[in-house]
Amino acid sequence: MNSSWITIAILGLIAHWSMALPDTVKIGGLFEASEELDMMAFRQSVNKINMDRTILPRTKLVAQPNIVTRHDSFTVADKVCNLLGMKVIGIFGPSSEFTSEDVESICDTMEIPHVETRWDLYQRRGTMLLNLLPYPPAMAKVYVDLVKAWKWKQFTVIYENDDGLVRLSELLKMYDPKGYTVTVRQLDDEDGNYRHVLRKIKRSGETNIVLDCSIDILYEVLKQAQQVGLMASHHNYIITNPDLHTLDLEPFQYGGTNITGVQLIDPADPLVNTTLNEWRDFERAGKGRMDSGYHNITPSTLRMGTALMYDAVQLFGRALHQLDSSQHVAIKPLDCFTQGNWEHGFSLINFMRVSEMKGLSGAIHFDNQGFRTNFVLNIVELTEYGLIQIGTWNSTEGLNLTRSHATDGISMDVGEHMESLQNKTFVVLTALSPPYGYLKHSAAKLSGNDRFEGFGIDLIHEVSLLLGFNYTFKIQHDGVYGSLNRKTGQWNGMIRELMDYRADLAITDLTITYDREGAADFTMPFMNLGISILYKKPTKEPPSLFSFLSPFSREVWMYMLAAYLGVSILLFFMARISPAEWNNPYPCIEEPDTLENQFSLKNSLWFTIGSLMQQGSEIAPIGVSTRMVAGIWWFFTLIMVSSYTANLAAFLTVESMSSPIKSAEDLAKQNVIKYGAKRDGSTAAFFRDSNYSTYQRMWDFMINNPDVFTSSNDEGVNRVKNSNGKYAFLMESTSIEYVVERECDVSQVGGLLDAKGYGIAMRKDSSYRNALSAAVLKLQEVGKLYALKVKWWKEKRGGGACRDDASKGSGAASELGLPNVGGVFVVLIGGVALACIIAWLELIYKVAMNSIKNRTPFWPEIKDEIRFVFKCHGSTKPVRKKDDEKEEKSGAEEEMGEEVAADFIPLSPYATPYGYVKKERMT
Ligand code: GLU
Repeated sequence: MNSSWITIAILGLIAHWSMALPDTVKIGGLFEASEELDMMAFRQSVNKINMDRTILPRTKLVAQPNIVTRHDSFTVADKVCNLLGMKVIGIFGPSSEFTSEDVESICDTMEIPHVETRWDLYQRRGTMLLNLLPYPPAMAKVYVDLVKAWKWKQFTVIYENDDGLVRLSELLKMYDPKGYTVTVRQLDDEDGNYRHVLRKIKRSGETNIVLDCSIDILYEVLKQAQQVGLMASHHNYIITNPDLHTLDLEPFQYGGTNITGVQLIDPADPLVNTTLNEWRDFERAGKGRMDSGYHNITPSTLRMGTALMYDAVQLFGRALHQLDSSQHVAIKPLDCFTQGNWEHGFSLINFMRVSEMKGLSGAIHFDNQGFRTNFVLNIVELTEYGLIQIGTWNSTEGLNLTRSHATDGISMDVGEHMESLQNKTFVVLTALSPPYGYLKHSAAKLSGNDRFEGFGIDLIHEVSLLLGFNYTFKIQHDGVYGSLNRKTGQWNGMIRELMDYRADLAITDLTITYDREGAADFTMPFMNLGISILYKKPTKEPPSLFSFLSPFSREVWMYMLAAYLGVSILLFFMARISPAEWNNPYPCIEEPDTLENQFSLKNSLWFTIGSLMQQGSEIAPIGVSTRMVAGIWWFFTLIMVSSYTANLAAFLTVESMSSPIKSAEDLAKQNVIKYGAKRDGSTAAFFRDSNYSTYQRMWDFMINNPDVFTSSNDEGVNRVKNSNGKYAFLMESTSIEYVVERECDVSQVGGLLDAKGYGIAMRKDSSYRNALSAAVLKLQEVGKLYALKVKWWKEKRGGGACRDDASKGSGAASELGLPNVGGVFVVLIGGVALACIIAWLELIYKVAMNSIKNRTPFWPEIKDEIRFVFKCHGSTKPVRKKDDEKEEKSGAEEEMGEEVAADFIPLSPYATPYGYVKKERMT
């Protein structure tokens, strides 16, 4: 029983041994001469499998590496056929796309697994092919994710050959006219000189670059980029080559350039370290060639290709073990020229596809199409300490950054900014525009920032003290601040300098405008202002012949004339109405026949003019009403004459100061005085863009007379001073304030045409904008900005020179209008109206008394009186008598006869009852 069991066991064992792999199994490798390290990794991986009996317990692998030439398809095919004839059951490599297709087709025919580790853009699930390098379209996603994470809106792709372009096709697809701007440039190799294309990129102002090139030229490209100035602190690179870490990046790590790369190999992975130590031990033990170079390989110089070759062999060994465990594996030599194949090839490659293992290149998995999947890439960034890992990316979860990029810091608070600005050095652009920037006067030779002083210089200094940054001043020599050329869409001046990264900040009297906000960022305004006119100060002119009319407006003069005539006529009528004004012309006759009135029209006019001229007349009113009119008139004249006298004094002191223009409207209306503004400045832009017809007219005038533009405010001021009133300069109010403190023969004319502010400019989307704004606000709140303004406007560099002039005769006298003296007219009208009423009452009273006394009817008499008043002529009237006296009178008149009567005229149509007045006396 026992012996039968033993027999069965021995037979089973024999059967098993007869199914098993041979003791040695050969695998072939195809390497180019330059791929010595890959070849060694191939060998080393075979050694590792042979030493580790858990992988292939009973079989030893034999490595058959071969050196091939890159473009020599014939030799490569020959070598593969030789290998197959030597019973090789797996081919690794080559890396050249020119020869690998031939190898693949032989392997397909012979059903021998073909393992690749090369970039294969057209990677497909070949029947016998397996590539350990991740599928390129999957890799391309990492670059897209990085571009999005870094918030690049435009970038330039630099590629070496068409493969690179296909590799980055996902990035190119990001182009969108309304979103991403993608520029593509090829590194045209002129004997290793790439400066031409790099310079072009620099000139374009591009700062975001995706660089795709082989590791062999990568260092040279970076070096040349640095030489042409394409590696400044504002430049950002994404380098697609996964072997970036194997280069010596020390020359590039201190410039502040943001260089991001990806790695398939994690140098910190313990497996990488252990494996490299094993390689070195192997070399030391004398099992490898002493010149093998293993000792040079460190985790940070291990190239991806080398690691993948090692992993490929490891994967092969494990799959072979599985194949061995599942079926009888026979190996026979194959001949390329006869029809034959290895029947286990398919199974072996399928075992490789379903195997999972951890290698030097991370976890190795393949998807159902045979493409490597679930791989993890390290995202690394170059810092002054070398490359550091800042996150990972995997094909399922995407990007996982442990630290955000520098340009994401916009929402940081001031405190954080203070830290981030601490050790920065900004290039601050300024212009020599007083009082914002001057060259310092000094006997000693000054250098650096010491050469400059001014409001802008002090302001930057104060801000730097708050935020802790360093700065270097740079001068905008042409003094152009920046305007947009609407035809070319190009900016000039300081704004252009910022955009082209030739400066980080710009400070001067730089106005924040809508256009500029589109091209640059500004801090909160540190000064508010508006456009006004600088013009020659009004000069003294000879007094005008009729300057005595100035104290009153024309309107008041007209009203005065009307008042004079009105009061005179009213006085005339009132005197006729008022009985008290009819007096006995011959005091020696007790009972005169006629009464006389002194207020004839002529006398009335004379009386009022006499009062107005403060001279009086012999005529004096007697009746209540006439006295009242006279009193009111005298009051009126008193006020008017004193107002006139007071205002005349003021007018005589200022009447000579006159200016032909008082506002922009005055300028626009005339052509004699030319006017202009600073070229390419915000004032010119204001007129250019204004919709208001006056300003449009002014802009038309300016562009039709281009000589009116100046290159600086100083030039404008000099032109105003020297033009003898023929030129006015449109200038900002703060600058005018500065000028009129020092130049006493010019002054501001009119008010402000707009309202705006000056700010510190910086590049668009600058991360330090908030911090700078906060610092400006702080300086404003603590009164530092005001103190600086007083210092540079009123104290330094000749400030206050015109202060005496300003206090002299600065008050202007203005003529008195109706609103000033209207009340006097009202009193006059009121008084005269009251006097009229009183005059009528007087008359009524007198007539009533007469009718009682003389027993005559009231109404006919009052009617007679009224008729007499409105007859408007005659200043003599008969005295009313009793009826018997009248009869005596009429008898006497009859005696006088026709002849006598002809010399008399009746006093009124009703004169008969009262008698006659001799003609001569009626004059
Ligand atoms: N502040 C102006 C500017 O920023 C320059 C002077 C002006 O145009 O009046 O362009």
